[in-house]
Amino acid sequence: MNLALLFDEDFVAPDRAILTGRRLSHLHTVLKVAAGDHIPVGRSNGLMGTGEVVRLTSTEAELRVTLDQQPPPSVPLTLVLAMPRPKMFRRVLQTCASLGIKDLWLINSYKVEKSFWQTPWLSEDNLRENLTLGLEQARDTVMPTVHIRKLFKPFVEDELPGILAGKRALVAHPGTPTPCPVHLDEPAVLCVGPEGGFTHYEVGKLEEAGCEGVHLGPRILRVETAVPVLISRLFDACG
Ligand code: SAM
Repeated sequence: MNLALLFDEDFVAPDRAILTGRRLSHLHTVLKVAAGDHIPVGRSNGLMGTGEVVRLTSTEAELRVTLDQQPPPSVPLTLVLAMPRPKMFRRVLQTCASLGIKDLWLINSYKVEKSFWQTPWLSEDNLRENLTLGLEQARDTVMPTVHIRKLFKPFVEDELPGILAGKRALVAHPGTPTPCPVHLDEPAVLCVGPEGGFTHYEVGKLEEAGCEGVHLGPRILRVETAVPVLISRLFDACG
């Protein structure tokens, strides 16, 4: 937790917030703060700054909050991701938030197992918690939006063309002839397949919608590895 992300419900006054639960444990066990210490804080979808610990007990920490800095710029990339298996999904979600992705579409694909859609990690609370962990890791406050589309064809035919409009559109697919571009200076949309890859039919539909197939070389990467490699290749995500 390189920043404690504060939500409206944490504020008891315009400049006072109370931390409990995970964030409080982190203050005690990892940061080992004492009253009078300052920690980095940010308001969800707002400014960042510092929180002075004015009161610390085993059940809560009260912070005097000063918010005066903008969060880092986001990455101008819409990520369209075939729903990963639950264990990986949680990590990918946190990685996307850490790398500055603000628009994430989770889609179905032939090789996405039906059970993946039942995962509790898709609940609103769990999405927010994992995105929060990613934002806190990277010191950002802007909560990504997650869209869930459980039908591939209607999404690709009816919605994707609108999402792609005015943007560079790519589908990462091993074996395609074009290497993934680097250092884009325009907004982009990137589609990433499931563990078993997009089918030939699905790649065809994505191309029909306007996506260009790109590859990352002969090494086939796990989704959780491919996503950060693709993002940092397309944009200077950590620059
Ligand atoms: N056997 C699958 C295939 O050949 O498509 C492997 C899928 S890979 C584990 C999961 C996803 O990560 C792929 O659908 C693709 O979007 C992305 N990916 C992984 N390695 C890649 C590479 N070398 N080139 C392009 N995309 C890659």
